[in-house]
Amino acid sequence: MGQTQLNATVSQRIDVAPGLMVLCVAPDKDVPRFEPGQFAVIGLPAGAPRVALSDPGEPVADPDKLIRRAYSLASPSLPGNHLELFVTLVRSGELTPRLFALQPGARLWVGPKITGLFTLADVPPDQNLALVATGTGLAPYMSMLRTRLEAGGPRKVAVMVGARHSWDIGYVSELRTMQRLAPTFTFLPIVSRPDGEPTPWGGAKGHVQSLWTGGALEQAWGFKPKADNTHVFLCGSPAMIEDMTQLLEAEGFKAHEKGSPGQIHVEKYW
Ligand SMILES: Cc1cc2nc3c(=O)[nH]c(=O)nc-3n(C[C@H](O)[C@H](O)[C@H](O)COP(=O)(O)OP(=O)(O)OC[C@H]3O[C@@H](n4cnc5c(N)ncnc54)[C@H](O)[C@@H]3O)c2cc1C
Repeated sequence: MGQTQLNATVSQRIDVAPGLMVLCVAPDKDVPRFEPGQFAVIGLPAGAPRVALSDPGEPVADPDKLIRRAYSLASPSLPGNHLELFVTLVRSGELTPRLFALQPGARLWVGPKITGLFTLADVPPDQNLALVATGTGLAPYMSMLRTRLEAGGPRKVAVMVGARHSWDIGYVSELRTMQRLAPTFTFLPIVSRPDGEPTPWGGAKGHVQSLWTGGALEQAWGFKPKADNTHVFLCGSPAMIEDMTQLLEAEGFKAHEKGSPGQIHVEKYW
């Protein structure tokens, strides 16, 4: 695949923290319709330069070979002209060091299909939503909330997000604004390594799992989230997903699979 087949342009880049960015991508053709929670495939040729902050990487055999990876979309599923990605730098990785070298105007490749089963499609409207993430696992929830958050709806919705440092939690002002405007929405961030931050972190400390075991949701909602009233979405690191799945299954929640409905919905990033 040569440079000429690249089919999209970086329209905006926001550096959230070192190694963490929001990247807006404008495909040459209209953005295909998608369900909030789905992912696109993004690619760059192996010959594209790596950002200085990363490891040097392997020698490149074929500079035209496309490196492709999946990225959940953070943008709302509304008519518009860009796709928004929330990306963390994996210093030893193949694609992210090249993505982090891009500036507005740079060209890249977007796969023709936006797909995935990590959506609200199978959640009955009377069920509450606990949306649990580590790091960039927040991306699909931003799409869901930006598309579907109803200020007056009966459903309670909570975003529980964990990161190492407070500056690694994305979309904080947008989520706090949503919380102010929608009385049914709760934003619960938690930080695992807050010590030594220049502005002391005054919020919850630990891993996102401890928000669940500590009853943060019950406190916010006024009732205990149970398998008969709440669906739980888990997105991000495999360790968090495994821990949370164990905790939830012990409380009677069941994994949601095609043909076998349950209340635990999972998107593992690696
Ligand atoms: C459905 C789906 C949606 C995804 N959405 C996102 C997203 O919205 N934002 C995002 O940043 N990533 C997302 N990912 C992960 C993404 O596809 C890549 O795996 C990631 O960006 C690393 O790519 P790389 O080529 O730089 O690293 P690779 O060369 O592919 O190296 C991968 C190795 O790096 C580690 N790794 C991968 N991802 C991470 C990570 N996020 N944090 C720490 N270590 C990691 C793992 O050990 C993995 O084996 C998603 C993955 C899937 C399957």
